[in-house]
Amino acid sequence: MKDWSPEKLLPDHIKKFEAYIPSKPDAELMKLYGCSRIHRLNNNENALGPPPAAQEVLRDFSPENAAIYPSGDAFYLRCKLAEKFGMSPEQFLVGNGANEVISFVIKAFCEQGDNIITADKTFAVYEWVAQFSGFEARLVPLKDYAFDDQGMLAQTDERTKILFICNPNNPTGTYWNRDKLCNFLDKTVGRWVVVVDEAYCEFVDKEDFPHGMALIAQYPNLVVFRTFSKMYGLAGLRIGYLAGSREVVDVVRRTCVVYSVNTLAQQAALAALDDDGHILRTRKMVKEGKEYLRAELTRLGLPLIMGEGNYVMIKLPMSDTLAYRKLMKKGVMVRTMTGFRFPNHIRVTISGMEAMKDFVEALAEILPGRRASRIATLRPAGAQSR
Ligand SMILES: *Cc1c(COP(=O)(O)O)cnc(C)c1O
Repeated sequence: MKDWSPEKLLPDHIKKFEAYIPSKPDAELMKLYGCSRIHRLNNNENALGPPPAAQEVLRDFSPENAAIYPSGDAFYLRCKLAEKFGMSPEQFLVGNGANEVISFVIKAFCEQGDNIITADKTFAVYEWVAQFSGFEARLVPLKDYAFDDQGMLAQTDERTKILFICNPNNPTGTYWNRDKLCNFLDKTVGRWVVVVDEAYCEFVDKEDFPHGMALIAQYPNLVVFRTFSKMYGLAGLRIGYLAGSREVVDVVRRTCVVYSVNTLAQQAALAALDDDGHILRTRKMVKEGKEYLRAELTRLGLPLIMGEGNYVMIKLPMSDTLAYRKLMKKGVMVRTMTGFRFPNHIRVTISGMEAMKDFVEALAEILPGRRASRIATLRPAGAQSR
């Protein structure tokens, strides 16, 4: 049929949904913006790469193994996780990135008419997966940049299935301490599933930060998400996991896609878990990067939203999309935040010092008028400008 369009077949919730467009590869972007290198400060990756032991596994991988299906349920990795956290291997489900386990949980618990609850300004994939699956996402405004526990509870009803908390929050860096999280779990246990996304927990060294793994025995409704993409530097291999009580994990397993996690990712993740030195080196880099940015952005007079995690948000006196294009021409890629309901904000990954310096220099150059000249006078005489 000539006038056939797939649109006619679409459910309403898909008609309304817009696809997410990821960034182009570096080589394409360099052509597009006319720059000769790109610092990717948009995805919160680890500039130090994977831990040395994982790098060795990657170098030693024998090509013949590519012909063999991986372990369908990441057997050895689950055993290792069980040992590390003092739990049972059956309490873990490994996915193709934490992104995939988000959909496992939503598919397992939600049906038409159900809702999930999360914040309006947080990692957007919980909201997106719910919406393109036809479920309502109730978005509760952050309070002082943090998840609002009372606000979230007030939004629950008899069709609520899952509450998602990002701890620490991407992009604001705020976190719930142990008391606050336990209090929330006390109020939800026996009623709804609570997901605590700990994608950035390895970056946090605060005494009162609660590690969800330790609370699972106490709260059978708690599901914890972790990823190897951020601290462990394996974003390109796509591997993350969830953990929970036997009861919850046994039902989520029904919607879990087996063989979705490749052999290389499983082996590299296994090796990465042992390297605590890597965590310390990365935390040191992030600490130094944050101190440097705090000083430089104060000098530039730009408000900074900075907490836990390997990222900061910056409020600009200009449009974030315009700033993005101007920074790209100078070889620096940041994340625009208008789409995440923070208009005129950018999020920047804390990386090595060279990238941080290039970023600050580029930012100073693109700021409207007055500020740019102010930074120019602060740069030491003879400093080179790229
Ligand atoms: C990056 C990120 C994830 C997803 O990580 P994967 O690469 O899919 O493992 C999940 N949650 C948050 C908050 C993140 O920032």
